[in-house]
Amino acid sequence: MPLRFYNTLSQQVEDFSPAQDNTVRMYTCGPTVYDFAHIGNFRTFTFVDILRKCLRANGFKLNHVMNITDVDDKIIRNATAQHKDLKEYTTIYTQAFLEDCATLRLERPEHLVPATDHITEMADAIAKLTAGNHTYTSDGSVYFRIATFPTYGKLSHNDFSGNIAGARVDVDEYEKADARDFALWKAPKEGEKYWDTSIGPGRPGWHIECSVMAIKYLGETLDIHAGGIDLVFPHHENEIAQSESLTGKPFARVWLHAEFLMVEGQKMSKSLGNYFTLRDVVARGYAPEAIRYLLCSVPYRKSLNFTFDGLKSASTAIDRLRNFKLRLETDKFPEGMHEPFSARTAAADQAFSDSLNDDLNTAQALASVFEYLRDANSAMDSGEFRAGNVPAALSFLAKFDSIFDVLRPTAQDGQLSDTEVDALIEERNAAKKAKNFARADQIRQQLLDQGIILEDTKSGVRWKRK
Ligand SMILES: [Zn+2]
Repeated sequence: MPLRFYNTLSQQVEDFSPAQDNTVRMYTCGPTVYDFAHIGNFRTFTFVDILRKCLRANGFKLNHVMNITDVDDKIIRNATAQHKDLKEYTTIYTQAFLEDCATLRLERPEHLVPATDHITEMADAIAKLTAGNHTYTSDGSVYFRIATFPTYGKLSHNDFSGNIAGARVDVDEYEKADARDFALWKAPKEGEKYWDTSIGPGRPGWHIECSVMAIKYLGETLDIHAGGIDLVFPHHENEIAQSESLTGKPFARVWLHAEFLMVEGQKMSKSLGNYFTLRDVVARGYAPEAIRYLLCSVPYRKSLNFTFDGLKSASTAIDRLRNFKLRLETDKFPEGMHEPFSARTAAADQAFSDSLNDDLNTAQALASVFEYLRDANSAMDSGEFRAGNVPAALSFLAKFDSIFDVLRPTAQDGQLSDTEVDALIEERNAAKKAKNFARADQIRQQLLDQGIILEDTKSGVRWKRK
């Protein structure tokens, strides 16, 4: 099945391929680094990670840009409250964000770009919009005049032709001619950080940063633009208005949006006491790979109910997968190949890929894996499963893990890392070779004390964590 996505712009499921050569030009909206990111944010970033991996599994190369919003009202407010310089403040939370992404095993985009590194380009873009009569100035701030962009609303499918006077569609506190108009450039306020530019002093609005950095790194028309569903309007609508007014070309061919995350069936909010950063959940003792599994397990266009029971089920599911892998690696199966089971593996492998290609249906993909596990375990119990069936089964598991990435356990605080375990095992092998059995036994015990079990097999030593 060819890769296909639901495109918010066309409201249709469409076959996907990049417009030029084999490279997908993709932009996804990144974090505003004013605090630790919460698990709702990470639902979207995990979806983007799955998206990247599925694009690559289809043979495409990636050129992916993600912004870091390192100037905005909340950042300025928090930095001021903590008597920190803007850069000093945002560096802390940018670093925290990157650490959290690593915890969840999210791949780095090819370009991770802070907004404040692109102020000159943003000022230039605003000057160009002004030259095209798309802006007006009020009290030193520059606004985009929506009335100059007749197709405004085409992404969110909102009809703006009626009377919308009084509707607030953008949150800023400046004077504008039409409720829809939004700030491209904000005049300096007393005591706030500002930049001196060709269009005067001030700082950029949020929307312009995405348009400018997307076009700079990816060209005038992107293959994919993605983000959370809450960004469709007004943020993405505004990105389209600015970008298409600048270039006269379609801004993005395909728009993908991830649905909301709920916690225990409720909207996450600080006042309900169900607001969690990734760090909060990890601190409760849940393995990062279980959190990742839960975040990936629901297709991105469905809202995800994050529950602690769900996290426990995710851990159980991962254990089943790891045990199955260990069984494949360590059990002795009868020689030969069981042809019907070989066909069963091929069918599961195909169903897995087809499900993901069907607009990233991760739930269906996981179902194909677990149905296969059940069949394989019973084929092993009945003796049908043969040694010749092992390589294809392992390669199917590897394909699964190249997307879901949950089989490798995360080292806990004070625990040996995978690399350290491997190094000790190597040392133990060398000790055995040198007939230093005392040292070899000592290492086995040291690993056992750390909860690591060694299995000597024909093809070498395998290990797992208890
Ligand atoms: Zn954006």
